[in-house]
Amino acid sequence: MASIEKKKNTSQEITINDNINHYIYSVHCHILHDRAKKINGYIILIRDITADKELEIMKSDFISTAAHQLRTPLSSIKWMMKMLLDGDVGKLSTEQNDLLKKGFQRSNEVISMMNNLLGITEIDRDKLPFKIEPTYIDKVLEKLYDHYVENAKQKGITLILEKPKGELPLIRVDLQKINMCVQNLLDNAVKYTAKGGKVILGAYTKDKNIIIKVADSGIGITDEEGVKLFTRFYRGKRAINEEPTGSGLGLYIVKSIKLKHGGEVWFESEKDKGTTFYIKLPIKD
Ligand code: ADP
Repeated sequence: MASIEKKKNTSQEITINDNINHYIYSVHCHILHDRAKKINGYIILIRDITADKELEIMKSDFISTAAHQLRTPLSSIKWMMKMLLDGDVGKLSTEQNDLLKKGFQRSNEVISMMNNLLGITEIDRDKLPFKIEPTYIDKVLEKLYDHYVENAKQKGITLILEKPKGELPLIRVDLQKINMCVQNLLDNAVKYTAKGGKVILGAYTKDKNIIIKVADSGIGITDEEGVKLFTRFYRGKRAINEEPTGSGLGLYIVKSIKLKHGGEVWFESEKDKGTTFYIKLPIKD
């Protein structure tokens, strides 16, 4: 514990390898103060967490394998439904078409849950691969708009793409991960907005940053919900009432991905009026 910071309580994990064995310890240092608030001692707690960590890895491996195995057949089912919907094997009646559309939408939701589960196992092990490349954010948003517009329409929601004034500069990000973040925000905006509402997707530049915005006119977020929002597995009670399907992982993933990009994520909201989420990504020269 030579590296204890003397003024604050600290916690850290220490790994010890002796060629054969591998041990992980959690070390917590608590500072004791006297009445005059001067430091007069330390309590150091050392706990062997090797078994806990191994169990965590096994759990994470299991989730990752299950999600991988389930995602492949689900994707096939989704594409078969798409072929039927596109009339590739004949014309459908209105009832058949409506039912299939709902099935197609549900399969999209389950695939996005699987993707979040896979993302979470990789984030937990710090193994989420990042491929940073020059990207035009406006193009990413246009594609997402095309992907979501039909989905939103089916729920009776108007999706609007707010085009930036002028061209946005190229930005170095992991395209797929930013896509995943905005997808999670759009999923939520559509899920937590009732029929007749609207969702706006847009981006603009501000002080050497690109800001992506997803605004909705949905159920909103209360102060109480707001503090827990980015915690993994957290789902608001009103959100569950509105939409029982969900994993509570979307915003945790958004937070983890923006950290890797040196960005920020925040929201503004009013209960029953709507919510706007922002992702700020620095433009590096
Ligand atoms: P999920 O949507 O699966 O519940 P998320 O991590 O994406 O998980 O979101 C966590 C919680 O944050 C939601 O359950 C909901 O309570 C709240 N939330 C997120 N986005 C919105 C939104 N656009 N409007 C209202 N509540 C939201």
